[in-house]
Amino acid sequence: MGEQINIVLAGPRGRMGKEALHLIHNTKEFSLVGAVDRKHDGQLISDINGLPNMDTPIYTNLENCLQAHQADVLVDLTTPEIGKRHTEIALQYGVRPVVGTTGFSAEDLARVTELAASKKLGTIIAPNFAVGAVLMMKFSQMAAKYFPDIEIIELHHDQKLDAPSGTAIKTAQLISAEREAKQQGHPDEHEAVAGARGANIDGMHIHSVRLPGLIAHQQVLFGGNGQTLTIRHDSYNRESFMTGVKISIETVMKLDHLVYGLENIIA
Ligand code: NAP
Repeated sequence: MGEQINIVLAGPRGRMGKEALHLIHNTKEFSLVGAVDRKHDGQLISDINGLPNMDTPIYTNLENCLQAHQADVLVDLTTPEIGKRHTEIALQYGVRPVVGTTGFSAEDLARVTELAASKKLGTIIAPNFAVGAVLMMKFSQMAAKYFPDIEIIELHHDQKLDAPSGTAIKTAQLISAEREAKQQGHPDEHEAVAGARGANIDGMHIHSVRLPGLIAHQQVLFGGNGQTLTIRHDSYNRESFMTGVKISIETVMKLDHLVYGLENIIA
């Protein structure tokens, strides 16, 4: 059995946070020593309706929490602004951040890279904790060497504001690193209805589907002579992110620098 890892969780009432509470509760090597919420200062996790029966104290201020408890890892599943602030505070206190919020700019990442390196502390920032989605991207990158004609179809619930999804863009970028830019389809192709061929990244077409009932799905279609290959990933709920959170908590303990993106952890 590995060493016990003492964790502080920020955002325990959120949709991701609740799943993370269950993960920590059900993992023998993980102990939750503190939680940081926007409210409920001084209460326990078990006092909050719908949260697991854990006698962990809640703080509304991360610094107060880290002064009161010896923590190894901060798991932050709050909001982009708070996630950034908490990452820097954790590192100042010698605690390794595992951060799931998006929105870190190149300058933010440069600052965290420097801070983590100067403190020699592992830090993981992962905009997508779904291991299956990361594998889909890696497998697609591998397949693109042999099948350079590619269309990406991403499908999400109809409350999603951005299109195409970050995962679709990231998939196209990873593929672009592997294949020559290629304008696909017939050179004289024209759209009878604008947008029919979707977005275009380096010649790859990306189609965004938005429907109630869907959650987060993507398929990458490869076409070759007399054959096609489809690589598909489906995320049905936020539990799908927890394998990635668990791997990140375990891995951050062995690192002494920042790693951005789960794809750089999963071999
Ligand atoms: P959510 O349900 O809105 O949860 C966010 C939680 O953070 C809420 O409970 C919120 O409290 C709390 N919070 C806000 N400010 C806080 C503060 N200062 N201190 C402590 N807690 C604070 O959102 P979610 O769907 O769980 O997502 C959480 C974050 O993870 C988002 O940034 C989202 O984009 C990201 N995300 C990442 C992945 C991934 O794979 N990396 C996957 C899904 C989502 P209130 O409810 O009181 O405001």
